[in-house]
Amino acid sequence: MVSSPYGHKYYNINLLFKHIIFYFVTFVGAVIFFILVVLHTFASEISDIEYKYNYIQNQYQNLINKHIDLSAQISNKKEETMLVADKIEELEGVIGISNNNNNYGLKSRVEIASITGLQKLFIMKFFPNGYPLNTYKRISSPYGYRIHPLSNTKEMHTGTDLAADVDTPVYATADGVVDFAKSGWNGGYGTIVKLDHFFGFKTYYAHLNSIVVNRGDFVRKGQLVAYVGNTGASSGYHLHYEVRFLGSHIDSKNFMDWNMSNFDKIFDKEKNVAWQSLLMTINNLMQQTPMEQQLLLLGQGLRVN
Ligand SMILES: [Zn+2]
Repeated sequence: MVSSPYGHKYYNINLLFKHIIFYFVTFVGAVIFFILVVLHTFASEISDIEYKYNYIQNQYQNLINKHIDLSAQISNKKEETMLVADKIEELEGVIGISNNNNNYGLKSRVEIASITGLQKLFIMKFFPNGYPLNTYKRISSPYGYRIHPLSNTKEMHTGTDLAADVDTPVYATADGVVDFAKSGWNGGYGTIVKLDHFFGFKTYYAHLNSIVVNRGDFVRKGQLVAYVGNTGASSGYHLHYEVRFLGSHIDSKNFMDWNMSNFDKIFDKEKNVAWQSLLMTINNLMQQTPMEQQLLLLGQGLRVN
């Protein structure tokens, strides 16, 4: 009850409190509801972002995998291309094609420096090199055009003439097989021995006095085949030594001067031989032959010369 000069007024405190509590509870309830709604919204948005993040992460991983896969494929292709290029180069070597217009492009293909000592030994055993005589007086007539001592006309001299005493021993300049061994005129060659070597090479030993091998005999480098004479179109005791490649005579002097210490000189001097493809073939041949067999092969005949 509140008193004033005009009288008394009554207030119901209990009812007033009830009203205040009602509003308060309603307010707090509303606030909590609001917070819950906001939290729920945030939560669903976070899970949405998480989902998107995972999705992108997956796609990224897929791209990385694809990239790795493609890289592997590219390097495989590169390897294949290189192998094909190697094969082409090998084939070019074997069939004698070169980029340098019939200059055989030796330097650009098989590096001379890469030829092993064993390969050199192999080549020096099976290809004509060195002199067919241990002793001779002089080169009485070189390879090339000359005035013939008997006919007095200009003609091609197809070999190198070595003036020597009668019956000076004549040795094979490489391993090979006796293709022809006959006494007589033989087209001016006189008594002659023709040897067949590997890879298209032949050697002729002409104007002989006598022969010690027969057609079909296999001979080693340095083996005695005949003795110097003066038969056929000859004006004195001498050996006519001829080197042939694919049926054509080539400068025998180049091959006589050829040895291990000047091994690569001949590749520049003698342009009629496709040295590149020849070396390539020997290279491949020796790679397919076990080392022991190579040594065995070379061991025979290395004692002589
Ligand atoms: Zn001659």
